[in-house]
Amino acid sequence: METTRRPVRRPRQSHPLTQPQRPGRAPVTCAPGATRKLPVLPVRNAVVLPNMVVPLYLDREPALLAVEDAAAHDGHLLIVAQRSPDLTDPTADDVYAIGTECEITRTLQLPDGATSVTVRGLRRFKVSQWAQVAPYGVARGAATEEQAVTGNQADALRRSTLQLLEHCARQSERFTEDQYIQALNIPTLGALADYIVTQLEPPIQERQAILEQFEPLARLRAVSQLLRRELDVLELERKITGEVEQEADRGHREFLIRTQIQALRKELGERDPGMAELDELRERIEAAGMPTAVEERIQRDLRRLEAMPSMAPESTVIRGYLDTVLALPWRTASKDQLDLRAAAATLDAHHSGLHTVKDRILEFIAMRKLSPQGRAPVLCLVGAPGVGKTSLGRSVAEALGRQFVRISLGGVRDEAEIRGHRRTYVGALPGRIIQAIKQAGTSNPVLLLDEVDKMAADFRGDPSAALLEVLDPEQNAAFADHFLEVPFDLSKVLFILTANVANAIPGPLRDRLEMIEVPGYTEDEKLHIAKRFLIPRQMRECGLSETRIAFTDDAIRRVIRDYAFEAGVRGLEREIAAIARQVARKVAEGSRAKASITAQRVPTYLGPQRYFPPEAEDRDEVGVATGLACTSAGGELISVEVTSVPGRGVLQLTGQLGEVMRESAQAALTFARSRGVHLELPADFHEVSDLHVHLPAGGIPKDGPSAGVTMATAMISALTGKPVRRDVAMTGEITLRGRVLPVGGVKDKVLAAHRAGIHTVLLPARNLRDLDAMAPAIRASIEVIPVESMDDVLRHALATQSAAKPQPRRRAAASRVRSAEPQAACSPGELPPAARVARSRQSD
Ligand code: ADP
Repeated sequence: METTRRPVRRPRQSHPLTQPQRPGRAPVTCAPGATRKLPVLPVRNAVVLPNMVVPLYLDREPALLAVEDAAAHDGHLLIVAQRSPDLTDPTADDVYAIGTECEITRTLQLPDGATSVTVRGLRRFKVSQWAQVAPYGVARGAATEEQAVTGNQADALRRSTLQLLEHCARQSERFTEDQYIQALNIPTLGALADYIVTQLEPPIQERQAILEQFEPLARLRAVSQLLRRELDVLELERKITGEVEQEADRGHREFLIRTQIQALRKELGERDPGMAELDELRERIEAAGMPTAVEERIQRDLRRLEAMPSMAPESTVIRGYLDTVLALPWRTASKDQLDLRAAAATLDAHHSGLHTVKDRILEFIAMRKLSPQGRAPVLCLVGAPGVGKTSLGRSVAEALGRQFVRISLGGVRDEAEIRGHRRTYVGALPGRIIQAIKQAGTSNPVLLLDEVDKMAADFRGDPSAALLEVLDPEQNAAFADHFLEVPFDLSKVLFILTANVANAIPGPLRDRLEMIEVPGYTEDEKLHIAKRFLIPRQMRECGLSETRIAFTDDAIRRVIRDYAFEAGVRGLEREIAAIARQVARKVAEGSRAKASITAQRVPTYLGPQRYFPPEAEDRDEVGVATGLACTSAGGELISVEVTSVPGRGVLQLTGQLGEVMRESAQAALTFARSRGVHLELPADFHEVSDLHVHLPAGGIPKDGPSAGVTMATAMISALTGKPVRRDVAMTGEITLRGRVLPVGGVKDKVLAAHRAGIHTVLLPARNLRDLDAMAPAIRASIEVIPVESMDDVLRHALATQSAAKPQPRRRAAASRVRSAEPQAACSPGELPPAARVARSRQSD
């Protein structure tokens, strides 16, 4: 059975109580409570309430039959709501048990063949039983008559409900004034409730609940709740609509207000701040002294800014850009002081020693003096941390009377860090070079590019390529920063680069640099630097005068040896600062005594000794040779240990050795085998012994060829049982024929040997001239023996008498010498492990 209300042409439901009764149709009267049978017309999406007039559209057979049945009797039928609107053929269980007895007031045949009936709700009807279910339903049940309710409570409820309805009528288009007036005229509470629900049209379940509420007071109370909810929704609706309208209006209103403000300003003879800002920008552009092409470009941006509303997001971007461009020193430059004597005095005032470095810097200043437009080479100061590279750069700036800015390049992987981000990126900035120029405020500062060897290339581009352009005198007169978009002249800038290890600087960049090695310091030099520079500076920082604190030389030496064992003096300055701070605290707490820092008292300030310097072995050992390594932390001592054990000729290499170092070990072994007889090695050692070569501090990768000589010495010692002299350290690359080739970092290596108390260093003969610039005191304390071949090395390195316990050896048949599984790769050699080899050794 399918009965629906026609969806499109649904007229507004009317209410007979509020409408004139049609003539000739008297209201049906029936004894309330009497059980009757009525044909049933189920409807979906509708609940027909008493006194409601509803047109229904019938297009299914059972509905038509039910209507026909009703028409054949008294024209009454029962209309019930379906529980689920989706059902097309509802059974007795699918409809509510309470419906409305209705009378058919009109039947119409529609042009499409369907039938429409108009029904009027009469009274609530409760189904007790179904008399028939097919072909259409017939229900048995009783109708209820409405009780009249009077009294104060009824009046109060009626009044408050009508008030709510009045509010609704005022706020909503759903209720008209007319409907409110009609409601005023409904005499009974129950009928009033039904009328309001008819107009309110809450969801089906709520309408059904109202239908099922037989008690008029309770029904009206429920309806007044619905009205209250409707009012809340109306209020919210009004607010949202208001906000949307307000938003749309704001732009328009803002425009009007701005126009008015402008008019008022004009009236008062005042200038518009937006215009004033643009005028100021125009003046700044004219005063900046930019090249013509650049100025034209910037003027274009200014014109764009003028044409834009001041609140447009892009205007902020253009303003930021113009501010950056105008903050650049387009024609501000400092005047160079090229007085060589004054420059030398400035360098000496901040740094002791470093004569070679200072000479090179003074030569450079002389060049600028004689040929101001000439292309000066780019200086690169190479040395371990804390040897004074940065402060030398600062002194050069001071000596020349130029501004100084340091740019740290350590860890820079993105080309945009050098060259800037394009303006299209959100939060774009100029690159570090242009930022540094802006910071300097002059177009010819000294820019110190710190740690160039720590830059790395990745998918974001190669920063070293951008740096090449910065440093190249052919290109840097028109350096193009992506953010700036206009060229900036960097040709007047003096670039100084620093690096810990020269080899780690990308090749093309290295070729353009003039390397100046800044070697590490000896203990005496450190003592001198501490006394003359570091201690006075830290005393100044802590506000301590000489009457408050004094360091003995022994105390400083103890700090150098036991707390800050390093090539430079940064750690030393840190420890001195720690002592000075503690003394300052005591003084601030009221102590009047002068703190005398002696060697014995150093641990009370700095705690137990932190560093045990690597020392030469305490006795001559078999299979242990001392090599000299060069790391990013300066020179280091490193032991090479070799043990020969019975086996089949395997060469095992451990200690994270890199490819170059592993090949060095192979070359050393092959050399030993080829010279077996001459070296008095056991004839078949390569068949019956395995050799294990180990470089301690196995957690640190090592690479480079300069340990070749040391490995060969340790191997030959292990095989012959002749101990290696503990007071000899060596470095050098080995060839298959036993020749010793030169290596890098010699000065730092010799200094490391000096620090460790080694007195004899075997150095490739061709490295000897590297020591020319070495302090005479060190040259005097160390015997440097030039070596050209392994024979020279062994003659000086092996002790004359054999060790007490030679290593065990055993004969066997196999004849292979092969290396063990490759271990990861690094170096006593040129390449730098980041960590300190010697420090790790001490912690073993
Ligand atoms: P680097 O740049 O080589 O790592 P710094 O220039 O930062 O080293 O130097 C560290 C500290 O050591 C600075 O305070 C510096 O003044 C001081 N220093 C280094 N070498 C000397 C020296 N020869 N004379 C005086 N002070 C020095």
